[in-house]
Amino acid sequence: MPLQRHILIIHAGGTIGMQASAQGYVPVAGFEQRVRQQLNDERAAQLPAFDMLELDQLIDSSNLQPHHWIELASIIEQRWQQYDGFVLLHGTDTMAYTASMLSFMLQGLDKPVIVTGSQIPLAELRNDALDNLLTALIFAGQYPVPEVCICFNGRLLRGNRSRKLKSAALDAFDSPNYGHLGQAGINITLHTERLLAAGRIHFNIPALNPDAVVMFPVYPGMSARIAEAILNDNAVKGCVLQTYGAGNPPDANSELMAVLEAAIKRGVSIVNVTQCLQGKVSQGAYATGATLNRIGVIPGSDLTLEAAFTKLHYLIATQPQEQVGTLMVKPLCGEMT
Ligand code: ASP
Repeated sequence: MPLQRHILIIHAGGTIGMQASAQGYVPVAGFEQRVRQQLNDERAAQLPAFDMLELDQLIDSSNLQPHHWIELASIIEQRWQQYDGFVLLHGTDTMAYTASMLSFMLQGLDKPVIVTGSQIPLAELRNDALDNLLTALIFAGQYPVPEVCICFNGRLLRGNRSRKLKSAALDAFDSPNYGHLGQAGINITLHTERLLAAGRIHFNIPALNPDAVVMFPVYPGMSARIAEAILNDNAVKGCVLQTYGAGNPPDANSELMAVLEAAIKRGVSIVNVTQCLQGKVSQGAYATGATLNRIGVIPGSDLTLEAAFTKLHYLIATQPQEQVGTLMVKPLCGEMT
């Protein structure tokens, strides 16, 4: 028997609530009214009850900054007891970053926090906005999902395992290294065996320095000089390094390796993730990767780029430096295997 709950929908921006302008799509306030217009009483009665809160500054999520994560997590924290679940309407471009960061700031959930958006605005005749919103609302309101999730095109995905994989298709999101948590097809299915266990909520919403974490891919021809230009700044405390395949860098470039090693000696935590879409870093499967073990790079296993980046930000802001490496390789909330 599905549960019936009271949900808060938070509108932060993104295509879902945008309208066409001379410059292209822009976020527009007043989304609640536009949604309610589309739901007659009979349809609304079948949905979980919801309130909607709209941010004063709606953004195209390409403009997302770390302070937005603090704002969103704080909104949820302040209203945690009032609601049985939360739906966050967010742009798709950086949705995976926000879902990942919220999973770290809100650990031990006992109710759903479901992030969604759309590829076509609600304002268009043919759109995926209403379907994504209603599906997210139904998962949040009628199913016991104690996680930060992304709900998109009928898929319910673990937030910190999700990635935007397609720029122009409606099935834009997937979680290449973790099974879907649920599906909304003709029937709604929830894979309860894949869910995190419900916990006791623990909010930890630290101040974040936007300059503290950097990231860059290795590429054929990358020079030590370029890596040094990125890493050699006092504000930089962490770096996500995207290497090839199973976690392999161009280690024949000993100057480049020396720049990484010097940064680690200065206290920068460097985390290795793969440029591949699926699979994990096995640092040391090849001699090239073993070089990273020798200089103290942290293996990122099967963390997505977005989860590695936000986890590093979160740990740097909340932990003493010597703990960052230890916690980086431990799953905190289902983000890695
Ligand atoms: N640029 C938009 C955003 O991320 C794209 C979208 O929402 O689909 O806000």
